[in-house]
Amino acid sequence: MRGFVVQYTPTPLPASAPQHGGIAFLDRDGVLNLGSPEYINHPSEFKILANAPKAVGILRRAGYKICVVTNQSAILRGLWDKNRLHQIHNYMRQVFLEQDSDAHFDMILGCPHRHRDRCMCRKPKPGMLRFGERVLRGLQPCKEGESVAESSLEDGHVDWWGDKPAATNSFDCMVGDRGSDMGAGWAQGVRLFQVNDATGIYPVLEGILNSENIGDDFHPVR
Ligand SMILES: [Zn+2]
Repeated sequence: MRGFVVQYTPTPLPASAPQHGGIAFLDRDGVLNLGSPEYINHPSEFKILANAPKAVGILRRAGYKICVVTNQSAILRGLWDKNRLHQIHNYMRQVFLEQDSDAHFDMILGCPHRHRDRCMCRKPKPGMLRFGERVLRGLQPCKEGESVAESSLEDGHVDWWGDKPAATNSFDCMVGDRGSDMGAGWAQGVRLFQVNDATGIYPVLEGILNSENIGDDFHPVR
């Protein structure tokens, strides 16, 4: 499997939301749900972090489209296939909406590769963020529902020694618990918010919502 796993489910923002067009790129494990070194292998292992659905609902009410970008190498390690990932993500959607009716995910992208597969999508490569941005900004068509998308070589290209690129939209942000998340967000040029994997997104929400807040200082190479 060369490409990455896509769920594309565009839904209008809440009617009262401001129209700044920002995208919140969110890592999954350690941000929305409790991560595990043994992977999240089944919906029954998916445990929501406190107030994560509320945080996603608040972000959408504040005008952000939501794009989840998650490394899920269990797929190419042969533990399970993309249908299991869809099953886990469908469960995630359901439990988030149960807790906050605005906690909707516009797009969920999963890289199935291992480091050695040298793909363009495994974070810190920004392939999934670049694809998500193009689709959510109407620059590239994408089939609604489940599909597989391929990265171009260009989508994996990053000058890690150069300056942080400029974001397309100054509201854009990346929220993650690991350096690989910060690297992918850096390559995309967006505001970075690193979270504690035990508490996830909610404690950093205030910072994200303040668009003057430029986020964490991060350097991919030192
Ligand atoms: Zn990949």
